[in-house]
Amino acid sequence: MKNIIVLGATGSIGDSVLSVIKQNKNKLNLLGITFNSNISKAKDIINEFKLKNVYSDSNESYESLMRTFENNYDLNILRDKSELEELLNKDDVDIIVSAISGFAGLESTLMAAKTGKTILLANKESIVVAGDVVLPLAKEHSTDIIPIDSEHNAIFQCLNSDKNTDDVSKIIITASGGPFLNKKITQLSKVTKKEALNHPNWEMGAKITIDSASLVNKCLELIEAKYLFDLDEKFFELVVHPQSIIHSIVTFIDGSSICQMSNPDMRVPISHALSGDSNRLSLNFTELDFSTLKLTFQDFPKDRNGIVDIAREICKEGGSSGTIFNAANEIAVQSFLSDKITFDKIYDVIYRTFDAIPVSKNIDIESVYEIDIETRMEAKKVVKSIS
Ligand code: NAD
Ligand code: MG
Repeated sequence: MKNIIVLGATGSIGDSVLSVIKQNKNKLNLLGITFNSNISKAKDIINEFKLKNVYSDSNESYESLMRTFENNYDLNILRDKSELEELLNKDDVDIIVSAISGFAGLESTLMAAKTGKTILLANKESIVVAGDVVLPLAKEHSTDIIPIDSEHNAIFQCLNSDKNTDDVSKIIITASGGPFLNKKITQLSKVTKKEALNHPNWEMGAKITIDSASLVNKCLELIEAKYLFDLDEKFFELVVHPQSIIHSIVTFIDGSSICQMSNPDMRVPISHALSGDSNRLSLNFTELDFSTLKLTFQDFPKDRNGIVDIAREICKEGGSSGTIFNAANEIAVQSFLSDKITFDKIYDVIYRTFDAIPVSKNIDIESVYEIDIETRMEAKKVVKSIS
């Protein structure tokens, strides 16, 4: 039995993880969750899984849990971060799923990196903002990081879970193109939130859905891939594949290309990652119908070259450059979702903010937090100036 803690269990990735656990109750056990504000969903999870441990960083959520479960002596309601850290380090914890959205996921991903357990990583932002800190920390503590972002999990599967990439010639990261496939940036000034949040293939949280619509998600994923597979950015190519069936392709030096395919369902990469070294877990999935399947590919749109160039620069430079990029993007996305800027201005906020903040080569965790705050302030100024 593998015991699992899900950080950010009330979100979209959380849903998929819990669904895989439910289908494999003889092998997987949900030992604890963290969440932020979705109290009713957290309570449902607690009841359904007869949960033993729960943590929320929100006082309101904590108090509500205390009121509801005060007579439930089997449930451990954690009060503070030190108790969460203690839980993550307990001997019976095997797997920690990092599924909080955005920069907010960094803190608990760092905690998990120090445990020596296995992290299933969805929170790509923690790698983008602090790859130079998180990965060495995980290495130092012998913590394995298995990606569940579908493209990265696909690459991981194509590499046969092997860390050796000496025989890799090229890795193609596929992108659906999102709801604005084939639209130029100049055509995006009037798109609505509803349109931007309506992804054609995937159901996900709001932040990543907007990132997918702007294609900034692929930039974050390029940086994530560079760190996770420890390969130079020039090995990675971004290609649009609107059907989201092939999740990524690895070409080896002998001319073989291996891809991983499935319907767009996050439970597939999650099942793979949860199985670890054991046999694959069974999943109630929708089969691909190869007799009707039409797979198409097209170039990544040229007018997004500027943003991809920044991502490639970040891969080469490291340091605080990813922190700046991520914070600028998070403010841009929030500003679009709160009607402060139009969709096309997301790029302007990123470009202008990225240009305004100097990059430091050497970062530690304190400086990541400082640079994140400084960048958010600058990005907010940019938003004000263009809205
Ligand atoms: P979501 O918005 O649906 O869920 C986010 C979760 O994080 C919730 O449980 C929420 O309570 C928690 N959370 C948010 N802010 C928090 C805070 N300040 N403190 C503590 N907890 C907080 O997001 P999602 O779509 O599930 O995405 C989660 C992560 O997985 C993101 O980094 C995203 O990029 C990545 N990811 C998601 C998908 C997907 O299909 N949804 C695919 C690939 C990667
Ligand atoms: Mg992805």
